[in-house]
Amino acid sequence: MRFLTKMKNDRPYIIAGPCSLESEEQILKCAEGISKLGIEVLRAGIWKPRTHPGSFEGIGDAGVLMLKEAAMKYGLKCATEVANPKHIESALKGGIDILWIGARTTGNPFMVSEIASALSGTDIPVMVKNPLNPDIELWCGAIERLTRSGLSNITALHRGFYSYTDGIYRNPPMWHIPVELRRRFPKMRIICDPSHICGDRRLVEEIAQQAITFGFDGLMVECHPDPERALSDAGQQVTPQMLGEILSHLKIPVSTDKEKDFDRMAEELRSTIDSLDETLIDILARRMDAVRSIGSLKRKMGLPVLQPQRWNNVLESALVHAKEHSLDTSFIEKIFTLIHEESMKNQVRQS
Ligand code: PEP
Ligand code: MN
Repeated sequence: MRFLTKMKNDRPYIIAGPCSLESEEQILKCAEGISKLGIEVLRAGIWKPRTHPGSFEGIGDAGVLMLKEAAMKYGLKCATEVANPKHIESALKGGIDILWIGARTTGNPFMVSEIASALSGTDIPVMVKNPLNPDIELWCGAIERLTRSGLSNITALHRGFYSYTDGIYRNPPMWHIPVELRRRFPKMRIICDPSHICGDRRLVEEIAQQAITFGFDGLMVECHPDPERALSDAGQQVTPQMLGEILSHLKIPVSTDKEKDFDRMAEELRSTIDSLDETLIDILARRMDAVRSIGSLKRKMGLPVLQPQRWNNVLESALVHAKEHSLDTSFIEKIFTLIHEESMKNQVRQS
């Protein structure tokens, strides 16, 4: 897998631009603003997926030329969202440099397949947003469909996930999901879109910082010359000036060289942890063998599987032991509850 472009001086890779391209004037102002910040890629939605018909659905095909011309005027690359083969044809004809697949599309394998076939033979850089729902398999599946079509320049784009509970974020980040994606595709670039996570420009800086602290490779931030009057996502876009401030506050962790030094120093500790993890599994297996033997005994003597007094004693002595080792007792309680559940399951299966 190749990277989109090389990062200069280990800086995060930044993409910025309006949620939607609205007019020539708007995109030119935006391109000028972000180019002054040293940003290299201009984003803009041309075909917008909207919940209700009648909302602004993007400027359509005419926007391709406007986006390309604004980017070229300021020496930028440009990126837009494509959701079907018609969008792809129009974007490729117009010389759009980078494409992205939106969250609503990633969740639909039929659409991803059509997109993958339409892109086959091009090897244009493609960014794949996570699906709306917190389902890592759909995200991976979309990436795999594109790589199987011969595309090698793929970036994952994390934009948060739909949640049933109300919180401060429009789409809570659920960091464990992109972290697991990185484990599965360690060489693939992952970029964070704090704008769609936050839904509120006041929160963008904090999420951008968290992403960079997690080791994401870059950010895609929605940026509009007059955000309050934007035709879509008005609450979450920042002005180029605000973006400049956000970027100047970013604390970027360890350079690649420092990371290599760290890896070397951590190697010994990591092998200790690996071997302790193996021991943990061996011990769990031995514990389960003993549990099964007691299970046979209970069955032979006609006794019930669950013996509450015994379970209380097990838990209590585990918590006393945990305290002696300064381990968090609620953490140990969770682990022992899981172990006990699994043990009961094993004994019930036997009887
Ligand atoms: C966008 O980037 O403007 C967009 C529509 O994002 P998402 O697909 O993440 O909702
Ligand atoms: Mn948007």
